[in-house]
Amino acid sequence: AIRFDNVEKRFGDNVVLQDLNFSVAKGDRVTLIGPSGSGKTTILRLVMTLEEANGGYIYIDGEPLTHAERDGKRVELKEKHKNEVRKRIGMVFQQFNLFPNMTVLENLIEAPVHVLKMPKRDAIEKAKELLEKVGLADKADAHPLELSGGQQQRVAVARALAMDPEILLLDEVTSALDPEIVGEVLNILRDVARTTDITMLIVTHEMQFARDVSNRVLMFDGGRIVEEADPETMFTQPTEQRTRDFLSAVL
Ligand code: ATP
Repeated sequence: AIRFDNVEKRFGDNVVLQDLNFSVAKGDRVTLIGPSGSGKTTILRLVMTLEEANGGYIYIDGEPLTHAERDGKRVELKEKHKNEVRKRIGMVFQQFNLFPNMTVLENLIEAPVHVLKMPKRDAIEKAKELLEKVGLADKADAHPLELSGGQQQRVAVARALAMDPEILLLDEVTSALDPEIVGEVLNILRDVARTTDITMLIVTHEMQFARDVSNRVLMFDGGRIVEEADPETMFTQPTEQRTRDFLSAVL
């Protein structure tokens, strides 16, 4: 479970998130929508400890990500603590972010072997199962740049799953793909949603996908939650004018 408690995030004078409060229960699939710059990616990066909040607290399973303030000063996250958090969370980025100098199989076993200390043989076996699952069993020895964008993103999904994450963060995972291959990546993620109980926090512009996999949708604007609803309600009868304007521009 994830909880944001009065979270504030600034980049210099730019207040990106303010007084942000929301919770994601275990097994929830929550989609974040909203205009460009509304802070959606920043939320995922905060959970992944790639960014740190300037105010408030973020909890993962009740454990605060940021240490308590001491003498009015916030104590920064320690590298060790960040690594502990990242072990439990998988993230798939818009730009694949595979290791280009490693084969597909090496990409998949890197973190299980070096971070989780899984025996290499077990990691390879698991990697092969995952490649089967994403339809790339025959690409184990290829290098990422020999693959299409859709195939690379499927490898990235498999790599995230290789860590057996409790939480999966998906940041516009199809935005860099040609329209005709978006479906192959989304179908794999639909399958992951159907066959696991991984908690998912999703930023996407694919509204049909959001409808298919998520049980809640949060609409953001200007670093605040404008509206929150189940997907059916959000996409067919939103309450807020701001949501209606946004959806009519993207749907
Ligand atoms: P998009 O759909 O375009 O990705 P978003 O809702 O995900 O938008 P964010 O990427 O979270 O929005 O960005 C929110 C704001 O924070 C933007 O104004 C952006 O310029 C700013 N921002 C994000 N990361 C940084 C950074 N590392 N340094 C400075 N400003 C940043």
